[in-house]
Amino acid sequence: MTELREYLDKIDNSDTDVSVAEHATNLDSLDRLSQFRQEFHFPQKQGSDITYLCGNSLGLMPKRTQTLIEEELDVWKTRAVEGHFDHPYGRPWKSCDELVKASLATIVGAKTDEVVAMGQLTSNLHKLLVSFYRPTQQRYKIIFEDNAFPSDNYALQSHARLHGLDPQLTLVRVKPRQGESTIRTQDILDTISEHGDSVALVMFSGVQFYTGQLFDMASITSHAKSIGAIVGWDLAHAVGNVPLKLHEWGVDFAVWCSYKYLNSSPGGIAGIFIHESQTNERQQQMEHKRLEGWWGHDPETRFEMGPHFSPSFGASAWMVSNTPVLTLIALYASLQLFDEAGMDNLRAKSVALTGYMELLLRKSKHFTTSDNVDHKQFTIITPSNEHERGAQLSLKFNKDYMLFYNEQLQVHGVVGDDRKPKVIRLAPAPLYNTFSDVHRAVTVLNKVLDEY
Ligand SMILES: *Cc1c(COP(=O)(O)O)cnc(C)c1O
Repeated sequence: MTELREYLDKIDNSDTDVSVAEHATNLDSLDRLSQFRQEFHFPQKQGSDITYLCGNSLGLMPKRTQTLIEEELDVWKTRAVEGHFDHPYGRPWKSCDELVKASLATIVGAKTDEVVAMGQLTSNLHKLLVSFYRPTQQRYKIIFEDNAFPSDNYALQSHARLHGLDPQLTLVRVKPRQGESTIRTQDILDTISEHGDSVALVMFSGVQFYTGQLFDMASITSHAKSIGAIVGWDLAHAVGNVPLKLHEWGVDFAVWCSYKYLNSSPGGIAGIFIHESQTNERQQQMEHKRLEGWWGHDPETRFEMGPHFSPSFGASAWMVSNTPVLTLIALYASLQLFDEAGMDNLRAKSVALTGYMELLLRKSKHFTTSDNVDHKQFTIITPSNEHERGAQLSLKFNKDYMLFYNEQLQVHGVVGDDRKPKVIRLAPAPLYNTFSDVHRAVTVLNKVLDEY
């Protein structure tokens, strides 16, 4: 993928007009992952594919998802309960969660037993907070980001209250500095130090949903651990998007949904990570405070239906219910594509795609670096440094016009999404988006701003 970077550097540093469509075509011809686009269905508008830059909200449907789901429906139709044990495609339902473990582990940088596909993001977060947020009189604070995704905020506040604590005094929210949009790593580290041994939990999102900022997960994790706190990450916008090394970084737990960059179907099955240091001793695994159910029981003896819970090894002990096969299979279909493409290749292409989009946006006559955005103007609040962002760029508009401009993009077949009060998010997904998609989106945006 170095060809993409070299080409971008070349046009960035030359006198050529970067906005000519030929550059997009040339970049597409250098893209070694271009064949993956054909693996996806694109919604149509007036007979042609829409320009879909919304994979950070809901990933597109892989064509093979339909085939795999139809196979499962067929097994249900023809074998019913037998499908749990005897499955014509070699995917017995009783252990189907195992199908995705290795791929998920690779994507998040974990050992296979540290991850499991289960439940949904927020409800999984609740389950993990039961185990990993155990405040004491001394250590009870949660260091958290201001303007976090509402669901995470609600979940954390509710746990504070469940422990009889006042959320206002328990949640310490790190904010961007006055006049800045993103949070400085140093400010996060300083806040952690300042609250020291009163901190029970440090919990951030890997990639911030509104600004697109990718946090320095390695530094934040290591600093939080050095003061004795537990560290959890919400990877909703990070998984399948940016490089993750959860095991190596020493993260205690993480949660994610998989319908965004992982294309697992709307509301599809989510996933969790629990570091092996939390579970590798049998005794330790037994003593965890945890919400328990039969699917977290050791599979060897699960069907003996005994009176005592004997936990599975690793993260699987946190499973509660049996796996929803149809959404698990949908995730499996998409993960096959991630295995084939490789996260390193995807990230390299993603950096180029988003870099190209930024280059085009910054050349727009409507782009401003000022924070005070006027009618017909926009600025970019996502960090410009490629190490501090994933695929998404957050364009900030004047709040009176943002919704209107986003509507106009849709009218012209360009789909990003709006986040109130001021942001349109555009996220080219490296599995299926092209440089020509990016070119088209920016061209349409410019036209809309010229016009209105
Ligand atoms: C998308 C997203 C969620 C979604 O939560 P669900 O439980 O899957 O509905 C939660 N947190 C963050 C940060 C998100 O971006």
